[in-house]
Amino acid sequence: MSSFDVVVIGSGPGGYVAAIRCAQLGMNTAIIEKYSTLGGTCLNVGCIPSKALLASSHHVDEIKHFADHGIELAGDFKVDLEKMIARKQAVVDQTCGGVKFLMDKNKITVFEGVGSFENATTINVTKNDGSVEQITAKNTIIATGSKPSTLPFITLDKERVITSTEALKLKEVPKHLIIIGGGVIGLELGQVYLRLGAQVSVVEYADRILPTMDAAVSKELTKVLKKAGMKFYTSHKVQKVERQGETVLVEALNAKGEVVSLEGDYTLVAVGRRPYTDGLNAEKAGVKITERGQVEVNDHLQTTAANIYAIGDVVRGAMLAHKAEEEGVLVAEFLAGQKPHIDYNLIPGVVYTWPEVAAVGKTEEQLKAEGKEYKAGQFPFKALGRARASADLDGFVKILADKNTDEVLGIHIVGARAADLIAEAVVAMEYRASAEDISRMSHAHPTFAEAIKEAALAATENRALHV
Ligand code: FAD
Repeated sequence: MSSFDVVVIGSGPGGYVAAIRCAQLGMNTAIIEKYSTLGGTCLNVGCIPSKALLASSHHVDEIKHFADHGIELAGDFKVDLEKMIARKQAVVDQTCGGVKFLMDKNKITVFEGVGSFENATTINVTKNDGSVEQITAKNTIIATGSKPSTLPFITLDKERVITSTEALKLKEVPKHLIIIGGGVIGLELGQVYLRLGAQVSVVEYADRILPTMDAAVSKELTKVLKKAGMKFYTSHKVQKVERQGETVLVEALNAKGEVVSLEGDYTLVAVGRRPYTDGLNAEKAGVKITERGQVEVNDHLQTTAANIYAIGDVVRGAMLAHKAEEEGVLVAEFLAGQKPHIDYNLIPGVVYTWPEVAAVGKTEEQLKAEGKEYKAGQFPFKALGRARASADLDGFVKILADKNTDEVLGIHIVGARAADLIAEAVVAMEYRASAEDISRMSHAHPTFAEAIKEAALAATENRALHV
């Protein structure tokens, strides 16, 4: 029977990063993955394929503006969806192959099969052919991730009533795609198909899309996406989804209690994801699963079994790849006797629509609820030379700072390259910068990053220079 210092169950960004860090720290490490490719949700059916399709469909959008740049197309252009999806798959395959390379490089033993606990130190790996290999682990890290969730009355047939997994490999552009859920995944995939010519309707239970993000950000993105043709049904509670041949009927109750019916050819159910522990036999190892289906952990991400840890989507907190990665590193370093720390307030959240949305720290709504005295500075992208040069005029940077100390409490961005810009905000907040600190740092001209400096100036003493 093979024995390891650490066995990681699940090879998503949480699991494979944990395994690498454990190996770096000298632990004899193994990873178990039930699928034949490594990388988990993020690399196979999440972050990477969705960004590949967003990139391809962004080109389609840009072609429409070629004439503004003095570029004439000799003829009309055509989208080959099959080829676009094949390119996406090639990107995925290459990225997953990269993880396999990293496992080999770090001498991590990879087991393909379902990992399930026999007890707190023995794990059964059930392979595809039904054979079972038993291994032992001094410590185990559960990184089994999440799966798309749904509503109890919806039957996901995965043909017309689909999840994000199927939406990443459709064989045709929907005529009318109805998306249930105005969160990150729904909006990103909605924008892909909107750009490819679908009519897209988003039905959201809350009174705005991206309900957990700053309200100003959600308002701005709604405006831009509406202008592009996306339809929004906010404060609508979906109560029925019915497939009739090639048609899907979605019925929702609006705020007045009236029934609103939508008819489409595809419905994407994007109402969130549920932690995944199926087949793990957690109870045999003394690992408690909460009522919400999450593995219960303490501040060190230790489960109710002392030698078993859990990270990523399967535990509490934001379901994000980079959060899972940080947790993977934390557990590895904790096992090596170090004292790592994660500031969950500084995990950035990003939406990869265009304009992109990115945020870190507190929203204005949270600060109000906490009764915190704050000041806000906002700067529009349209006032930037760089934004005008590339015709990316939508959006703004909003900085929230402590009214008394000027410490930055939250930075919220809608606009071109917000996903990359947010890194400056994270660094600033990690070092507890004041708005004035940011405003006094030189930002290259012309860049989108100048909007951060200007918003910081606006938050300092309302002294932005270019508005
Ligand atoms: P996962 O990536 O879910 O990996 C878990 C792995 O464990 C899987 O491979 C699974 O097969 C395996 N497994 C489960 N049980 C067992 C078992 N018993 N034995 C063996 N193996 C097992 N996040 C971002 O930060 N940025 C994004 O842009 C982004 N885009 C997304 C887009 C989409 C469409 C989706 C669906 C998600 C997106 N996410 C994004 C979320 C991100 O994918 C997850 O937060 C991340 O993958 C979580 O990592 P994880 O390691 O916890 O679990």
